[in-house]
Amino acid sequence: MTNQTSDRSYQLPPVGINPSSTAAGTSPGSFAPAADILPGRAGRYTYRSPDTPAMPAASEKTAWDFMPEDWTLRDGFDANYETHAAWQPPAGFEPITQLEHARVGTVTPEMQRVAERESHLTGEQVRDEVAAGRMIIPANRVHLGYQLDPMAIGRASKTKINANMGASPVSSGTDEEVEKLQWAERWGADTVMDLSTGGNLDDCREAIIKNSTVPIGTVPIYSMIIGRRIEDLTREMILDTLEHQANQGVDYFTIHAGVLQDHLVLVKDRLIGIVSRGGSLLAKWMIHHNRQNPMYEYWEEICDVMRKFDVSFSIGDGLRPGGLADATDRAQLAELQTLGELTERAWRKGVQVMIEGPGHVPFDQVEFNMKLERQLCHGAPFYVLGPLVTDIFPGYDHITSCIGATAAAYHGASMLCYVTPKEHLGLPKKDDVKQGCIAYKIAAHSADVALGIPGTRDRDDELTKARAALNWEKHFELSFDPDTARAFHDEDLDVDTDFCAMCGHDWCSVRISKEIVEFASGKAAGMQWDQAKVSAALTIEQQEILEKRGVLDPAEIHKLASKTQSTMADGEEKASCHSDVADDDQARQLQAENL
Ligand code: SF4
Repeated sequence: MTNQTSDRSYQLPPVGINPSSTAAGTSPGSFAPAADILPGRAGRYTYRSPDTPAMPAASEKTAWDFMPEDWTLRDGFDANYETHAAWQPPAGFEPITQLEHARVGTVTPEMQRVAERESHLTGEQVRDEVAAGRMIIPANRVHLGYQLDPMAIGRASKTKINANMGASPVSSGTDEEVEKLQWAERWGADTVMDLSTGGNLDDCREAIIKNSTVPIGTVPIYSMIIGRRIEDLTREMILDTLEHQANQGVDYFTIHAGVLQDHLVLVKDRLIGIVSRGGSLLAKWMIHHNRQNPMYEYWEEICDVMRKFDVSFSIGDGLRPGGLADATDRAQLAELQTLGELTERAWRKGVQVMIEGPGHVPFDQVEFNMKLERQLCHGAPFYVLGPLVTDIFPGYDHITSCIGATAAAYHGASMLCYVTPKEHLGLPKKDDVKQGCIAYKIAAHSADVALGIPGTRDRDDELTKARAALNWEKHFELSFDPDTARAFHDEDLDVDTDFCAMCGHDWCSVRISKEIVEFASGKAAGMQWDQAKVSAALTIEQQEILEKRGVLDPAEIHKLASKTQSTMADGEEKASCHSDVADDDQARQLQAENL
């Protein structure tokens, strides 16, 4: 044995620039590489995670490589075609979509509004990201005439979340769906999809659009087959339904055009086949008619309808895996290749595009899935459902999927479709919508902090300061869900103290730390360091509250918690604590004697 010790020096990984990390002496806020917010292919990485070895590189192409046939590249711009100055639209061309406006160099009021909401971006940067196809602003011109507040989905902006709702043939109705919409907006949903398959679909959709400030998406094939068999679907029915919904103000359509005849054989060895409703319906149509997917066949005509209103595509993943065992299989990836082709075709038509993604994916495969989409679909925003990273927790799939969603957003997804605790089990009710939204706000925000998007960590830091100061009011105010935070605090201790019920007064490390750092307080008379003071046992009322936790809503908990106030505070507004009875000099003296 020698006295030599091991070398314990270390190096931090290469650190990106995180302007939100300003405090000297703390760990850097983000280990992600610095973002490139630049026009054209130069900005293809925007905010990104460091690549694990062998991950697919970002595509060298952007929407500038897929211009409409009748636009001409001006002389001298061969090597620099990714600017509006380089392109001449045909005579009489009037831009309609945000993509077309970006291509002619306009910063629209919607782009300007996005820049206001994404304070790290300028209107020009938003325009350039839209022109490159890496960002969309789903804003139907009809919906803009109601209450829509424009937002953006893309890697240069903060990660967004979507909440699904909609009446089913067995549950819910229009009023309840509008209430759920407002509830989802209250809990941070950035977009809402109306997936109704029952009740009066038209009325429900109309009510949702007119009452929403967020973009609304639909899966139009659901309406196409109401009252008829999928086998009877025709080109006219498809185009008429799309026109009708676009005219109502829907902002984005999920269209499962990527499931091709050739792909169907690839699902035969799957554990759970095709789990997408749209995908399975179109597979049935193709088998029945022995013809190619009509959505794929009529893609250009569909684009023409959508362009008129500036409806964006959310190109559906009809072959997404429905279980871990089916993830990243040939069927899923063959469809993703087709989604890349459809993206290019839509861009040529001037239509904005995002791509839908899986589903159920083991944690280790999430990064590959995100980065493959970035390559095959040229950076078009990826909109993923979860993914769930395990299949054995029905009832808790907002958690299993929120873990996958955090990884997905960190590695490349731009929008996360929430999953509620009801997933696989039933139609979500109001509280399920709240639980799903909150789980996904956590995922999106955690990823944005990790990516080092400027300003995203500021509120975390402010809350940490309020927590360190034991400033409960500020603590609640900065919480995403102040009611629940306050109710949990108050259920045991409905008074403003410099500790909480989790550790109690004598064991509150934050309070002790405050004393040590600030020398602003001291110990109560008779305090003995070697004899911890045992907190009073819970009162009957407090026991009652704890027993009912999870059963009561926050308002009821508040009511019950107030019963405990008199026992804790003895009728005073604030519980007596050491900082109230010892001045600075006394505190310093006590500290010097005892520490
Ligand atoms: S009592 Fe415990 S949980 Fe509560 S503030 Fe103090 S250290 Fe934090």
